[in-house]
Amino acid sequence: MDCELGVSSPGNSCKDSRLLLFYEDELLVKEEADMILIPSMQDISLLNLKTTTVQYSGSLNGNTYYAANLCAKDQFPGFCFKKLRQLSGHIADDCFEMTYRAFHIMNWLKINKFCGCCGKVMQVTQAPQELAVHCPACGHTVYPRISPAIIVAVVNEDKILLARSSRFPAGRYSVIAGFVEPGETLENCVRRELQEEVGIEADNIAYFGNQPWPFPDSLMIAFTAQYAGGEITIDNNEIVAADWFTANTLPNIPPKGSIARQLIEWFLEKHC
Ligand SMILES: [Zn+2]
Repeated sequence: MDCELGVSSPGNSCKDSRLLLFYEDELLVKEEADMILIPSMQDISLLNLKTTTVQYSGSLNGNTYYAANLCAKDQFPGFCFKKLRQLSGHIADDCFEMTYRAFHIMNWLKINKFCGCCGKVMQVTQAPQELAVHCPACGHTVYPRISPAIIVAVVNEDKILLARSSRFPAGRYSVIAGFVEPGETLENCVRRELQEEVGIEADNIAYFGNQPWPFPDSLMIAFTAQYAGGEITIDNNEIVAADWFTANTLPNIPPKGSIARQLIEWFLEKHC
């Protein structure tokens, strides 16, 4: 469902409608005292933004959420931009999940403006309970893409395997991760990624948890595993360094809020 900025959806007052305004991977939020708040439609209507189309994102606790992308990072008194992945722990968990959902949807819409079959402009479906874009010319329908990726903590006695990607901030190490390939089970993906990126084998692969990761459209599925053989051999492509670390010799690790960090904290609980 689309609506115009400042216009409520049927059955909801402006007061109950929240607007998630993104600029790249940052979200416009209100800061009141020590609290970070998602602005209401009323709040946003006072900012005199140019009218734009917003996308319905979902309902939560009586509030209806809409989202839109901003073209510029303007400054507004009483508002500020926050990196989306740094909001975890600063707003309610369910509200945080809504920000990830909306960001994922906006990323998906951005790359599905035109039909992949006939090239015509796609339309967001108006059917309730169905999130999709539809081609009015040929009938092609596209649902939001969700790309599964595994992430795995491999433990060898009192050590955990951590590696550095060339994309990481300086000095940062994390657990191994990679996208699932067509026709592949999650466990076989764990085995392949470990073999390709660091040349080791693992067994006792056990499910740990999962986390939506909309940068741009992943679902991270986390595992723990036991080292079962091989010497660390990095591919020098995706991985530029890897090693075994004890709880007392950990390098710079990912910040709280990521499932990579949760896996490393699971290891620390067992070995501290
Ligand atoms: Zn088409």
